[in-house]
Amino acid sequence: MSKDIFKILTHRSKILHQAATETLSFPLSLRNEDLIYKTIDTLRYNEGVYAKRGLAISANQIGSLKRFFVVCDLDVNPLGRRVNVICNPEILELDNEVEEMFEGCLSIPKYQCLISRPKRCIVQYQDLNGKTEKKEVNDFLARVFLHEMDHLNGVIMLDKQLKTVENPLYPPYLEKLREKRAANKKQKILQQATQ
Ligand SMILES: [Zn+2]
Repeated sequence: MSKDIFKILTHRSKILHQAATETLSFPLSLRNEDLIYKTIDTLRYNEGVYAKRGLAISANQIGSLKRFFVVCDLDVNPLGRRVNVICNPEILELDNEVEEMFEGCLSIPKYQCLISRPKRCIVQYQDLNGKTEKKEVNDFLARVFLHEMDHLNGVIMLDKQLKTVENPLYPPYLEKLREKRAANKKQKILQQATQ
């Protein structure tokens, strides 16, 4: 099944470094609706960037400066097909308690970055129908939200990384890792055979 999806832009694209300042107004125009649905499909059906799908995608990553992102419904199943569309988001409150964790990004598939982020935040946004939602998000979901908020503000994970490492989920690296493991296994068997 081939889907009409956007090409995901990399961090080399200028738009990844620009703030998405175009607020969405409701009811959504047909054009904006199409843009959002195509972004949902891009998150759902993009292949080849990672061995696993991404968890979220922001407007800048598909070349738009509209203020929205799409995030997988982490409560239900992070790698399921259910998603939430987060329009015109604002952070109302950030926790003082921070945590460091490695993150990936669809626009920077080769690397993972260690990022320090608040463990909890209170966000306000509009859903696809323009209904205002106010939510407290915690732990991993807070991290995903804040990563996407950064995108909408023109900030990428390389801008705030504490450490950067190769991403084991990037297919060519995964292949390298498999080859290395297979070679180690072979060597072990040879060693055992000669003992
Ligand atoms: Zn990202």
